[in-house]
Amino acid sequence: MSMTEADVLVIGGGLHGLGAALDLARRGQRVVVIERNWVGAHASGATAAGVRSLWRDPAEIALAREAIELWHRMPEVVGDDCGYVAHGQLRLAAAAGVGALEARAAQTAALGWQHERIVGHNEIRRLVPGVSSRYVAGLFVADEGSADPHRTLRAYRAAAEAAGVVIHEGTEVTAVERRGTRWVLRGAGITAAAPQVINAAGAWAARVAEMFGEHITLSTMPAMMIVTERVAPIPMPVIGVVGGPLSLKQTSQGTLLIGGGLEGAPDLDRARAEVRMAILAQGARTAVDVLPGMADVVITRTWAGMEAQTSDALPVIGRSDVAPGLVHAFGFSGHGFALLPSVARVVGDLVAGEGGRHDLTPFRPGRLHPDAVGEGADARSG
Ligand SMILES: Cc1cc2nc3c(=O)[nH]c(=O)nc-3n(C[C@H](O)[C@H](O)[C@H](O)COP(=O)(O)OP(=O)(O)OC[C@H]3O[C@@H](n4cnc5c(N)ncnc54)[C@H](O)[C@@H]3O)c2cc1C
Repeated sequence: MSMTEADVLVIGGGLHGLGAALDLARRGQRVVVIERNWVGAHASGATAAGVRSLWRDPAEIALAREAIELWHRMPEVVGDDCGYVAHGQLRLAAAAGVGALEARAAQTAALGWQHERIVGHNEIRRLVPGVSSRYVAGLFVADEGSADPHRTLRAYRAAAEAAGVVIHEGTEVTAVERRGTRWVLRGAGITAAAPQVINAAGAWAARVAEMFGEHITLSTMPAMMIVTERVAPIPMPVIGVVGGPLSLKQTSQGTLLIGGGLEGAPDLDRARAEVRMAILAQGARTAVDVLPGMADVVITRTWAGMEAQTSDALPVIGRSDVAPGLVHAFGFSGHGFALLPSVARVVGDLVAGEGGRHDLTPFRPGRLHPDAVGEGADARSG
């Protein structure tokens, strides 16, 4: 079998693999993406596609706000708006949660961020006319919202291929070998070599790292979604609540999408996640608790997808300090869709040996090496 030669090989054809590949191809690099199933087969095809910096870990806010600025300019980035609509992001609080809202607002203000704004009783009723009277306040960001995941996948794929990226689907990387200054990757039907490799293998990224001799401690987030029948337009932002797993939005097709931390059952070996009805029911109840008018809306479909979950819910973005030429971009812990355009630039910078756009220290891979785990565990962001 002949050897495919490239400057950069990307393992994983999800959005983060495609985004980094696009960025590097535009810098003149020869880039090959190797995807086990098909582009968008896993988290990137299952995602709810919410775009928010609201309620994120402070370490991610700069990356998220840069991404939001780029979501507004998607036609310039990939030639399509990716269905992005800035209908706002709102985190609601019942009386018991108001203290948490105020603490969050004070924290982000102290860090110099101005975009999150506390809204009171009257304004949340204006933003969400049917909202339950239990909710008395909220934290609101006006310029955030959601996109269309499949349109985003199509646009990123088309832009990447137009920039010269070669995508191999149905090809699992099963072996890695170091030859001189290059890595040789093998999978069914392909042998490919390059000095630089990006690990964008989502839920399987620790297994890929292992092939390079790097041990990373990861777990799997099997996020579930509920979608309903189409209903009349409800003017509302994407809604979350303080203290509960909820993300509720209306899509441009009129369906309601409910998710936000509902977890199913993952099976990494079979590459599938199954839904758990009892937990889905809790999610549906929380949604009806927020919007009582939804009580009779019919659920039409549910699904689960998976991606890597880190112990601090922050992604892994950085150069491996074990394997030369290996750059990691995974572990988005259920909220990596929003970060796509800014992470693509940052990963491009890392591979190109440029940097300084963001402080990547909180995302360093070494924090999840077995001897380091425990340092910062349990700081899950909302
Ligand atoms: C149900 C659900 C809802 C979500 N909602 C939101 C949301 O509202 N907002 C938000 O910001 N984020 C959300 N997320 C998270 C977001 O979708 C992910 O962070 C993002 O899609 C991750 O993209 P990725 O490219 O890293 O991973 P993936 O899309 O999973 O891509 C990784 C790819 O690597 C491939 N691969 C693995 N091993 C190998 C190998 N050995 N060889 C070749 N290929 C390999 C896999 O087949 C896979 O296609 C959600 C996720 C899920 C599952």
